Amino acid sequence: MQLTQASLKRLEGVHPDLVKVVKRAAEITAQPFQITEGLRTLSRQRELVRKGASRTLKSRHIAAPNGLGHAIDVVAMIGGRVSWEVPLYHRIADAFKRAAREMGVPLEWGGDWASFFDGPHFQLPWATYPGVHSVKDAPMPQPTPRELATLVPGSRGDAVKALQDNLNRLGFSAGKPDGDFGPRTRAAVQAASATLTGKETDIVTVALAETIRKAAAKASAREA
Ligand SMILES: [Zn+2]
Repeated sequence: MQLTQASLKRLEGVHPDLVKVVKRAAEITAQPFQITEGLRTLSRQRELVRKGASRTLKSRHIAAPNGLGHAIDVVAMIGGRVSWEVPLYHRIADAFKRAAREMGVPLEWGGDWASFFDGPHFQLPWATYPGVHSVKDAPMPQPTPRELATLVPGSRGDAVKALQDNLNRLGFSAGKPDGDFGPRTRAAVQAASATLTGKETDIVTVALAETIRKAAAKASAREA
């Protein structure tokens, strides 16, 4: 089926990944549709909420900080006429979901929402498309100190062995490097962290491991 010029115009300002999905869905759908809305102003969204046509001001239709809309609404067409028959929207959604899978674009359909059925509505997920300027700017969940810790008492393996070796070279005796973060290694880590960072700890974060490694490398260079 063909999208009308009016439909294509309504895709302006919509995230290109969603536009890609819309165009592919139009190619493969058994149920013709057109686009009724893409990017929406905040004042229009307020009006829709007032009228009860939308439930939220936090809509994906409204331009995100990257300037793009992340939602579109469709309308089912039967013989050139608009239809609001629910089964038609399921058919359109089937085409959208297939298109999204083909394109590798995550997609949410308002018809799948438990809160209320919004059959005409498709959007890119907030989680994968936060709408910020770039992926780099996206808010990342902050790891806890424990998650950041590469090595803690009880850790085992080659990274512990390297740590023990570095501690020994610095003069903080961790015993024979056996790859086992036991009490002796723990005491050495506490002494080393206090000396190198001014803050005693037994949690060896990536940063602390690096500090210890660099200090050990320096110490070795002096000896050589
Ligand atoms: Zn919508």
